[in-house]
Amino acid sequence: MTPNSDISYINLLALPGIVSMSTCRGCVVDSDNYSGFNACHYTGDDMAHVAACREQLCNMLQIPLENLIIPRQTHSLNVAVIDAVPFDVNKLENIDALVTTLPNVALAINTADCVPIVMVDEEAGVISVTHSGWKGTVGKIASATIAKMVECGANPLHIKVAMGPCICGDCFEVGDEVVEQFVVHGFNTPQIILRTYGAKSHIDLPQACRKSLIEAGVPDSNISLPTHCSRCNPTQFFSARRLGINSGRTLTVVMLKG
Ligand SMILES: [Zn+2]
Repeated sequence: MTPNSDISYINLLALPGIVSMSTCRGCVVDSDNYSGFNACHYTGDDMAHVAACREQLCNMLQIPLENLIIPRQTHSLNVAVIDAVPFDVNKLENIDALVTTLPNVALAINTADCVPIVMVDEEAGVISVTHSGWKGTVGKIASATIAKMVECGANPLHIKVAMGPCICGDCFEVGDEVVEQFVVHGFNTPQIILRTYGAKSHIDLPQACRKSLIEAGVPDSNISLPTHCSRCNPTQFFSARRLGINSGRTLTVVMLKG
């Protein structure tokens, strides 16, 4: 579905009855790391701005504020199942993926270069959103999310996946210690560890996520790769590599429309 609003965003999965989107910054002021849409409450933005953005989003989705679920992410492998609203905010600390079967509950995660992943099993009515940075990717948080979705009734063969805006392989130059982690965890392929850039290697994070998703049973044909790089498109998306970590975040949202 396509909600109406002033928030600019990109649609991720074209499925009726499902909201799946990543926000764009909108109005960007060059010198301001938070200008535009930012709903992240722990990366240094003014809380009044964060609250206003959340209210705007909830108006667009036509849900009460308590139905917008945004965890405090820590690059953990922890997945929370949202089984009731209002949901205890203390249980949203140190969480990097969310799963629900509840309609009109918007699951959201914040990213600025890491990979946001939405997953939907329409038939079972199970949805999820995942934050997969390089640590989450080597730790296979996408697989952990699928395991929780299966507990809620999903079938990996039916899960459709889209990745939102994140850093591309051209932009994601990494040190040897990061490359080593990808090698140790079974991601040593030429599609994932890009060694053609000279002295330093680059990593293609979406391709690494894709590999984990396929290993967890999702058909490759059900997986959509990102359409935009966060770092290559600074007026559209926040990028921690470009702006530093004290900056806004892209919000990726999935919701079953009730
Ligand atoms: Zn890029």
